[in-house]
Amino acid sequence: MSEIFILVEHRQGKIRDITYEMFGLGEILADQQGTSFTAVLLGHDMKNFAEDLSMRTSKVLVVEDENLKNFNSIPYQKVLSSLLSKYQPLLFLMGHTAVGMDLAPSLSVEMDFPLATDCIGLSFEDGQLKAIRSIYGGKVNAAVSLRKSKGYLATMRPGVFSPKMPGEKKGGIVMEPSPLQGTIDVKKFIEYIEAPVTGEDITQAEILVSVGQGIGGPEPIPMFEELARNLGGTVSCSRPVVDRNWLPKERQVGISGKTVKPKIYLAIGISGAFQHVTAMQGSETIIAINKDPRAPIFSVADYGIVDDFQNVIPILKEKIKEMR
Ligand SMILES: Cc1cc2nc3c(=O)[nH]c(=O)nc-3n(C[C@H](O)[C@H](O)[C@H](O)COP(=O)(O)OP(=O)(O)OC[C@H]3O[C@@H](n4cnc5c(N)ncnc54)[C@H](O)[C@@H]3O)c2cc1C
Repeated sequence: MSEIFILVEHRQGKIRDITYEMFGLGEILADQQGTSFTAVLLGHDMKNFAEDLSMRTSKVLVVEDENLKNFNSIPYQKVLSSLLSKYQPLLFLMGHTAVGMDLAPSLSVEMDFPLATDCIGLSFEDGQLKAIRSIYGGKVNAAVSLRKSKGYLATMRPGVFSPKMPGEKKGGIVMEPSPLQGTIDVKKFIEYIEAPVTGEDITQAEILVSVGQGIGGPEPIPMFEELARNLGGTVSCSRPVVDRNWLPKERQVGISGKTVKPKIYLAIGISGAFQHVTAMQGSETIIAINKDPRAPIFSVADYGIVDDFQNVIPILKEKIKEMR
Protein backbone atom coordinates (compact mmCIF):
# COMPACT_ATOMS: atom_id res chain seq x y z
CA MET A 1 0.00 0.00 0.00
CA SER A 2 1.46 3.40 -1.01
CA GLU A 3 2.09 5.49 2.06
CA ILE A 4 2.47 9.22 2.72
CA PHE A 5 6.10 10.04 3.59
CA ILE A 6 6.99 13.21 5.48
CA LEU A 7 10.49 14.61 5.77
CA VAL A 8 11.37 15.54 9.36
CA GLU A 9 13.12 18.90 9.48
CA HIS A 10 15.51 19.47 12.35
CA ARG A 11 18.18 22.02 13.09
CA GLN A 12 20.56 22.48 15.98
CA GLY A 13 19.02 19.62 17.97
CA LYS A 14 15.42 20.76 17.55
CA ILE A 15 12.64 19.47 15.35
CA ARG A 16 11.18 22.37 13.40
CA ASP A 17 7.48 23.31 13.66
CA ILE A 18 6.87 22.62 9.97
CA THR A 19 7.36 18.91 10.69
CA TYR A 20 4.37 18.77 13.04
CA GLU A 21 2.31 20.90 10.66
CA MET A 22 3.00 18.33 7.93
CA PHE A 23 2.00 15.53 10.33
CA GLY A 24 -1.41 17.24 10.68
CA LEU A 25 -1.94 17.21 6.92
CA GLY A 26 -0.24 13.84 6.46
CA GLU A 27 -2.72 12.17 8.79
CA ILE A 28 -5.72 13.64 6.93
CA LEU A 29 -4.34 12.53 3.55
CA ALA A 30 -3.44 9.08 4.85
CA ASP A 31 -6.97 8.62 6.25
CA GLN A 32 -8.49 9.73 2.95
CA GLN A 33 -6.36 7.23 1.05
CA GLY A 34 -6.78 4.42 3.57
CA THR A 35 -3.06 4.33 4.19
CA SER A 36 -0.59 5.41 6.88
CA PHE A 37 1.96 8.17 7.16
CA THR A 38 5.63 7.70 7.85
CA ALA A 39 8.14 10.19 9.21
CA VAL A 40 11.45 10.12 7.35
CA LEU A 41 14.30 11.09 9.65
CA LEU A 42 17.82 11.67 8.32
CA GLY A 43 20.71 12.65 10.56
CA HIS A 44 23.27 11.45 13.05
CA ASP A 45 22.51 10.24 16.58
CA MET A 46 18.78 10.40 16.04
CA LYS A 47 17.60 7.95 18.73
CA ASN A 48 15.75 10.50 20.89
CA PHE A 49 14.08 12.15 17.94
CA ALA A 50 13.03 8.79 16.53
CA GLU A 51 11.42 7.73 19.82
CA ASP A 52 9.60 11.02 20.19
CA LEU A 53 8.35 10.97 16.60
CA SER A 54 7.17 7.38 16.83
CA MET A 55 4.52 8.62 19.33
CA ARG A 56 2.95 10.75 16.63
CA THR A 57 3.26 8.74 13.42
CA SER A 58 2.51 5.28 12.06
CA LYS A 59 6.20 4.61 11.47
CA VAL A 60 9.57 6.38 11.61
CA LEU A 61 12.12 5.53 8.96
CA VAL A 62 15.60 6.47 10.13
CA VAL A 63 18.86 6.77 8.21
CA GLU A 64 21.89 7.61 10.34
CA ASP A 65 25.13 8.82 8.81
CA GLU A 66 27.81 11.30 9.85
CA ASN A 67 27.28 13.00 6.45
CA LEU A 68 23.65 13.73 7.37
CA LYS A 69 24.45 15.53 10.62
CA ASN A 70 23.78 18.94 9.08
CA PHE A 71 21.53 19.52 6.10
CA ASN A 72 23.34 19.17 2.78
CA SER A 73 21.22 18.56 -0.32
CA ILE A 74 23.76 16.22 -1.98
CA PRO A 75 23.77 13.40 0.62
CA TYR A 76 20.12 14.08 1.48
CA GLN A 77 19.09 13.57 -2.14
CA LYS A 78 21.11 10.36 -2.46
CA VAL A 79 19.51 8.89 0.65
CA LEU A 80 16.00 10.07 -0.20
CA SER A 81 16.06 8.80 -3.79
CA SER A 82 17.19 5.43 -2.48
CA LEU A 83 14.34 5.37 0.11
CA LEU A 84 11.73 6.53 -2.40
CA SER A 85 12.85 3.87 -4.92
CA LYS A 86 12.65 1.17 -2.26
CA TYR A 87 9.33 2.12 -0.60
CA GLN A 88 7.52 3.81 -3.52
CA PRO A 89 5.34 6.13 -1.37
CA LEU A 90 2.34 7.75 -2.99
CA LEU A 91 3.42 11.19 -1.73
CA PHE A 92 6.62 12.56 -0.27
CA LEU A 93 5.91 15.79 1.59
CA MET A 94 8.53 18.42 2.51
CA GLY A 95 8.28 21.88 4.01
CA HIS A 96 8.44 24.86 1.65
CA THR A 97 11.52 25.93 3.57
CA ALA A 98 15.18 26.37 2.66
CA VAL A 99 15.47 22.56 2.93
CA GLY A 100 12.44 21.69 0.79
CA MET A 101 13.19 24.37 -1.78
CA ASP A 102 16.74 23.05 -2.14
CA LEU A 103 15.77 19.38 -2.39
CA ALA A 104 12.42 19.13 -4.12
CA PRO A 105 13.21 20.17 -7.74
CA SER A 106 16.23 17.91 -8.24
CA LEU A 107 14.57 15.01 -6.41
CA SER A 108 11.53 15.42 -8.65
CA VAL A 109 13.72 15.21 -11.76
CA GLU A 110 15.69 12.24 -10.47
CA MET A 111 12.59 10.26 -9.45
CA ASP A 112 10.39 11.52 -12.33
CA PHE A 113 7.71 12.36 -9.74
CA PRO A 114 5.49 15.41 -10.44
CA LEU A 115 6.08 18.23 -7.92
CA ALA A 116 3.76 20.90 -6.49
CA THR A 117 5.54 23.62 -4.51
CA ASP A 118 4.42 26.06 -1.81
CA CYS A 119 1.08 24.29 -1.35
CA ILE A 120 -1.61 25.53 1.01
CA GLY A 121 -3.89 22.55 0.36
CA LEU A 122 -3.48 18.99 -0.92
CA SER A 123 -5.94 16.21 -1.72
CA PHE A 124 -6.26 13.13 -3.87
CA GLU A 125 -8.91 12.51 -6.49
CA ASP A 126 -8.93 9.04 -8.03
CA GLY A 127 -5.36 8.59 -6.83
CA GLN A 128 -4.26 11.79 -8.57
CA LEU A 129 -2.78 14.65 -6.53
CA LYS A 130 -4.57 18.00 -6.52
CA ALA A 131 -2.89 21.00 -4.93
CA ILE A 132 -3.94 24.50 -3.96
CA ARG A 133 -1.12 26.98 -4.50
CA SER A 134 -1.29 30.55 -3.36
CA ILE A 135 0.13 32.68 -6.19
CA TYR A 136 0.70 36.36 -7.07
CA GLY A 137 1.54 37.11 -3.46
CA GLY A 138 -1.67 35.53 -2.17
CA LYS A 139 -4.05 37.36 -4.54
CA VAL A 140 -5.11 34.16 -6.28
CA ASN A 141 -5.37 30.56 -5.11
CA ALA A 142 -4.69 28.24 -8.03
CA ALA A 143 -6.12 24.72 -7.94
CA VAL A 144 -3.72 22.52 -9.89
CA SER A 145 -3.97 18.89 -10.90
CA LEU A 146 -0.79 16.88 -11.30
CA ARG A 147 -0.39 14.25 -14.03
CA LYS A 148 -1.08 10.65 -13.11
CA SER A 149 1.94 9.13 -11.45
CA LYS A 150 2.81 6.34 -9.04
CA GLY A 151 4.47 8.91 -6.76
CA TYR A 152 4.23 12.64 -6.08
CA LEU A 153 6.34 15.28 -4.35
CA ALA A 154 4.99 18.41 -2.68
CA THR A 155 6.34 21.21 -0.52
CA MET A 156 3.99 22.73 2.03
CA ARG A 157 3.88 26.37 3.07
CA PRO A 158 4.80 26.79 6.78
CA GLY A 159 2.17 28.18 9.14
CA VAL A 160 -0.87 27.03 7.14
CA PHE A 161 -1.80 23.73 8.83
CA SER A 162 -2.30 23.01 12.52
CA PRO A 163 0.49 21.00 14.13
CA LYS A 164 -0.34 17.44 15.13
CA MET A 165 -0.44 16.96 18.89
CA PRO A 166 1.84 14.40 20.57
CA GLY A 167 1.01 11.03 22.06
CA GLU A 168 -1.65 9.89 19.64
CA LYS A 169 0.02 6.85 18.07
CA LYS A 170 2.72 4.35 18.84
CA GLY A 171 4.47 3.70 15.58
CA GLY A 172 7.53 1.56 15.03
CA ILE A 173 11.06 2.69 14.26
CA VAL A 174 12.71 1.19 11.19
CA MET A 175 16.47 1.71 10.83
CA GLU A 176 17.57 1.79 7.19
CA PRO A 177 21.25 1.40 6.27
CA SER A 178 22.82 4.50 4.75
CA PRO A 179 23.53 4.17 1.03
CA LEU A 180 26.27 6.86 1.29
CA GLN A 181 29.86 5.90 0.69
CA GLY A 182 32.98 7.94 1.39
CA THR A 183 32.99 11.67 2.05
CA ILE A 184 31.03 14.24 0.10
CA ASP A 185 33.18 17.14 -0.98
CA VAL A 186 31.17 18.67 -3.86
CA LYS A 187 29.24 20.71 -1.31
CA LYS A 188 30.27 20.96 2.33
CA PHE A 189 28.61 22.19 5.50
CA ILE A 190 31.00 24.73 7.01
CA GLU A 191 29.37 26.45 9.94
CA TYR A 192 26.00 27.27 11.44
CA ILE A 193 25.63 30.98 12.13
CA GLU A 194 22.70 31.93 14.36
CA ALA A 195 20.82 35.04 13.19
CA PRO A 196 21.12 37.75 15.84
CA VAL A 197 18.11 37.87 18.15
CA THR A 198 16.97 41.46 18.15
CA GLY A 199 13.66 41.29 19.93
CA GLU A 200 10.40 39.41 20.36
CA ASP A 201 9.61 36.46 18.12
CA ILE A 202 6.08 37.31 16.96
CA THR A 203 5.69 33.86 15.34
CA GLN A 204 5.69 32.27 18.82
CA ALA A 205 3.24 34.69 20.50
CA GLU A 206 -0.18 33.34 21.52
CA ILE A 207 -1.72 36.82 21.49
CA LEU A 208 -0.80 39.55 19.03
CA VAL A 209 -1.91 43.16 19.27
CA SER A 210 -1.23 44.18 15.69
CA VAL A 211 -1.22 47.80 14.64
CA GLY A 212 -1.52 49.40 11.22
CA GLN A 213 -1.14 52.77 9.57
CA GLY A 214 -4.54 53.71 11.01
CA ILE A 215 -2.96 54.38 14.41
CA GLY A 216 -1.71 57.61 12.84
CA GLY A 217 1.84 57.71 14.21
CA PRO A 218 4.22 56.17 16.74
CA GLU A 219 2.70 58.04 19.73
CA PRO A 220 0.06 55.44 20.70
CA ILE A 221 2.49 52.51 20.50
CA PRO A 222 3.30 52.48 24.27
CA MET A 223 -0.47 52.17 24.87
CA PHE A 224 -0.62 49.09 22.61
CA GLU A 225 2.48 47.65 24.28
CA GLU A 226 0.77 48.01 27.64
CA LEU A 227 -2.40 46.41 26.26
CA ALA A 228 -0.34 43.50 24.85
CA ARG A 229 1.45 43.06 28.21
CA ASN A 230 -1.87 42.96 30.08
CA LEU A 231 -3.16 40.33 27.68
CA GLY A 232 0.04 38.29 27.93
CA GLY A 233 0.89 38.96 24.30
CA THR A 234 3.12 41.09 22.14
CA VAL A 235 2.84 43.85 19.52
CA SER A 236 3.10 43.19 15.79
CA CYS A 237 2.28 45.42 12.83
CA SER A 238 1.61 45.94 9.14
CA ARG A 239 4.28 46.98 6.69
CA PRO A 240 3.67 50.76 6.57
CA VAL A 241 4.32 50.85 10.33
CA VAL A 242 7.78 49.41 9.66
CA ASP A 243 8.35 51.57 6.57
CA ARG A 244 7.66 54.63 8.72
CA ASN A 245 10.02 53.39 11.45
CA TRP A 246 7.30 53.24 14.10
CA LEU A 247 8.25 49.61 14.87
CA PRO A 248 11.20 47.41 13.81
CA LYS A 249 11.04 45.02 10.85
CA GLU A 250 10.95 41.88 13.03
CA ARG A 251 7.40 42.90 14.10
CA GLN A 252 6.03 42.92 10.57
CA VAL A 253 3.29 40.47 9.61
CA GLY A 254 2.86 39.77 5.91
CA ILE A 255 4.27 38.24 2.78
CA SER A 256 7.41 40.32 3.14
CA GLY A 257 7.35 39.91 6.93
CA LYS A 258 6.42 36.92 9.07
CA THR A 259 3.57 34.41 8.97
CA VAL A 260 1.80 34.21 12.34
CA LYS A 261 -0.87 31.92 13.80
CA PRO A 262 -1.62 33.14 17.32
CA LYS A 263 -4.67 32.19 19.36
CA ILE A 264 -5.85 35.81 19.21
CA TYR A 265 -4.95 38.37 16.55
CA LEU A 266 -6.22 41.85 17.40
CA ALA A 267 -5.91 44.00 14.25
CA ILE A 268 -6.08 47.73 15.01
CA GLY A 269 -6.17 50.27 12.17
CA ILE A 270 -5.20 47.62 9.62
CA SER A 271 -7.13 47.70 6.33
CA GLY A 272 -6.62 44.01 5.46
CA ALA A 273 -4.57 44.12 2.25
CA PHE A 274 -3.96 40.60 0.91
CA GLN A 275 -0.21 40.97 1.51
CA HIS A 276 -1.06 41.25 5.21
CA VAL A 277 -4.03 38.89 5.47
CA THR A 278 -2.25 35.97 3.78
CA ALA A 279 0.16 35.81 6.69
CA MET A 280 -2.32 36.06 9.61
CA GLN A 281 -5.55 34.43 8.43
CA GLY A 282 -4.54 31.14 10.09
CA SER A 283 -4.94 32.80 13.53
CA GLU A 284 -7.48 31.06 15.77
CA THR A 285 -9.55 34.18 16.52
CA ILE A 286 -9.26 37.44 14.62
CA ILE A 287 -10.67 40.64 16.11
CA ALA A 288 -10.57 43.80 13.99
CA ILE A 289 -10.96 47.42 15.09
CA ASN A 290 -11.36 49.78 12.16
CA LYS A 291 -13.39 52.93 11.63
CA ASP A 292 -14.22 51.95 8.03
CA PRO A 293 -17.03 49.34 7.93
CA ARG A 294 -15.94 48.34 4.42
CA ALA A 295 -12.34 47.60 5.39
CA PRO A 296 -11.41 44.16 3.92
CA ILE A 297 -10.02 43.04 7.31
CA PHE A 298 -13.64 42.47 8.41
CA SER A 299 -14.03 39.70 5.83
CA VAL A 300 -11.48 37.55 7.70
CA ALA A 301 -12.36 38.74 11.22
CA ASP A 302 -14.36 36.60 13.67
CA TYR A 303 -15.31 39.75 15.59
CA GLY A 304 -15.32 43.32 14.30
CA ILE A 305 -15.63 46.70 15.96
CA VAL A 306 -16.38 49.63 13.66
CA ASP A 307 -15.04 52.63 15.54
CA ASP A 308 -12.04 54.84 16.12
CA PHE A 309 -9.44 52.86 18.09
CA GLN A 310 -9.11 55.87 20.41
CA ASN A 311 -12.66 55.17 21.63
CA VAL A 312 -12.27 51.39 21.86
CA ILE A 313 -8.88 50.84 23.52
CA PRO A 314 -9.68 52.67 26.83
CA ILE A 315 -12.88 50.59 27.20
CA LEU A 316 -10.96 47.41 26.41
CA LYS A 317 -8.31 48.31 28.98
CA GLU A 318 -10.98 48.88 31.62
CA LYS A 319 -12.62 45.53 30.84
CA ILE A 320 -9.28 43.71 31.11
CA LYS A 321 -8.61 45.43 34.45
CA GLU A 322 -12.04 44.32 35.74
CA MET A 323 -11.48 40.75 34.62
CA ARG A 324 -8.10 40.57 36.31
C1 LIG B 1 5.37 43.45 -2.70
C2 LIG B 1 4.57 43.95 -1.54
C3 LIG B 1 4.75 43.34 -0.32
C4 LIG B 1 4.02 43.76 0.78
N1 LIG B 1 4.20 43.13 1.98
C5 LIG B 1 3.45 43.48 3.03
C6 LIG B 1 3.58 42.81 4.27
O1 LIG B 1 4.41 41.90 4.44
N2 LIG B 1 2.78 43.20 5.28
C7 LIG B 1 1.86 44.20 5.16
O2 LIG B 1 1.17 44.50 6.14
N3 LIG B 1 1.74 44.86 4.02
C8 LIG B 1 2.51 44.55 2.94
N4 LIG B 1 2.39 45.25 1.79
C9 LIG B 1 1.59 46.50 1.79
C10 LIG B 1 0.10 46.24 1.62
O3 LIG B 1 -0.23 46.24 0.25
C11 LIG B 1 -0.71 47.37 2.28
O4 LIG B 1 -0.31 48.59 1.75
C12 LIG B 1 -0.53 47.41 3.79
O5 LIG B 1 -0.77 46.16 4.36
C13 LIG B 1 -1.51 48.41 4.39
O6 LIG B 1 -1.21 48.57 5.73
P1 LIG B 1 -2.28 49.12 6.75
O7 LIG B 1 -3.48 48.25 6.71
O8 LIG B 1 -1.59 49.29 8.05
O9 LIG B 1 -2.59 50.57 6.19
P2 LIG B 1 -3.80 51.15 5.38
O10 LIG B 1 -4.11 50.34 4.18
O11 LIG B 1 -3.51 52.59 5.18
O12 LIG B 1 -5.04 50.98 6.36
C14 LIG B 1 -5.23 51.72 7.51
C15 LIG B 1 -6.58 51.33 8.07
O13 LIG B 1 -6.77 51.97 9.30
C16 LIG B 1 -8.09 52.42 9.40
N5 LIG B 1 -8.10 53.54 10.31
C17 LIG B 1 -7.63 54.81 10.10
N6 LIG B 1 -7.73 55.55 11.22
C18 LIG B 1 -8.30 54.74 12.16
C19 LIG B 1 -8.67 54.93 13.51
N7 LIG B 1 -8.48 56.11 14.13
N8 LIG B 1 -9.25 53.90 14.18
C20 LIG B 1 -9.47 52.70 13.58
N9 LIG B 1 -9.13 52.47 12.28
C21 LIG B 1 -8.53 53.47 11.58
C22 LIG B 1 -8.48 52.78 7.99
O14 LIG B 1 -9.90 52.73 7.83
C23 LIG B 1 -7.74 51.74 7.18
O15 LIG B 1 -8.58 50.62 6.94
C24 LIG B 1 3.11 44.84 0.66
C25 LIG B 1 2.93 45.45 -0.58
C26 LIG B 1 3.65 45.00 -1.66
C27 LIG B 1 3.43 45.68 -3.00
